[in-house]
Amino acid sequence: MSNHLFTFKNHNVLITAGASGIGRFIATSFMKAGANVHVADIDGSAVEEFEQSHPGALTSQVDVANESSVDRLFGTQRDGHGDLDVLVNCAGIQGPTAPVEDMAFDDWRQCIAVNLDAAFLCSRRAVPMMKTKADGKGRGNIINISSTAGWHGYPWRSPYSSAKWALIGFTKSLAMELGTAGIRVNAICPGTVDGDRMDRVIAAEAQNKNVDEQQIRDGYTQGCSMRTMISGQDIADMTLFLASDAASKVTGQAINVDGHLESFAVSNPSA
Ligand code: NAD
Repeated sequence: MSNHLFTFKNHNVLITAGASGIGRFIATSFMKAGANVHVADIDGSAVEEFEQSHPGALTSQVDVANESSVDRLFGTQRDGHGDLDVLVNCAGIQGPTAPVEDMAFDDWRQCIAVNLDAAFLCSRRAVPMMKTKADGKGRGNIINISSTAGWHGYPWRSPYSSAKWALIGFTKSLAMELGTAGIRVNAICPGTVDGDRMDRVIAAEAQNKNVDEQQIRDGYTQGCSMRTMISGQDIADMTLFLASDAASKVTGQAINVDGHLESFAVSNPSA
């Protein structure tokens, strides 16, 4: 899809985990559509690389699961670009792959922190900025990157699935709180996105189940009606649509971009 379908000139957009993976597709798509983009990511070298390859972008190296770091991040946002029009809560880690009885509490908590707490911390700071928009009437968009694991159980990935379900509850609750303030809140549930992250997930599952990686990879596409993986650009396209006026009455939704995942049981053949 052409990004030129939408224009975000003079829109201030913050994308967490925007220096690589899906977030990077979202950030570059907003830049191409004319937005003032701020990328926040914990990975210093990825941030540096993004800054060099995308002159004009504002960047912050930051852990968005840390409260005081998020406070600093929003100070940089205000000083650098001003109040936000769009917040994309994309930060998330895959978390541990293990049976629940073998899972360390610290690993559980870290997964919940990055996938869920970060969205709370950033939204809490973004909402007051959005409420001042449109001469105080309020205007803005929050888009949370959940997962099809937010609709299905995910054996051996229980903290990840739990956080992504919770993110949908968070999305719907904020949509209800903020509907009359002109702020729309939606979630996107990506299916299996081709890239480094899925390579790591597949390797961990293969090791855990003692099968070869190709079997796990095939399982992911066989569980999907379109027999395909999803691209980062597919997720970016949906993000721009949701943030655009074309979606002006869309809020409180969790929209799958997954080629129609029929069943996680099929995707996890040896689960
Ligand atoms: P990725 O692992 O490729 O990249 C994630 C980025 O997040 C990295 O740049 C990393 O540095 C950054 N990051 C990690 N922890 C952070 C923190 N605490 N603070 C700031 N930045 C942090 O991941 P991805 O595949 O691009 O996934 C992006 C989002 O999409 C995640 O929320 C993920 O759960 C979700 N998702 C991914 C898939 C998939 O198949 N890849 C499917 C469904 C949902």
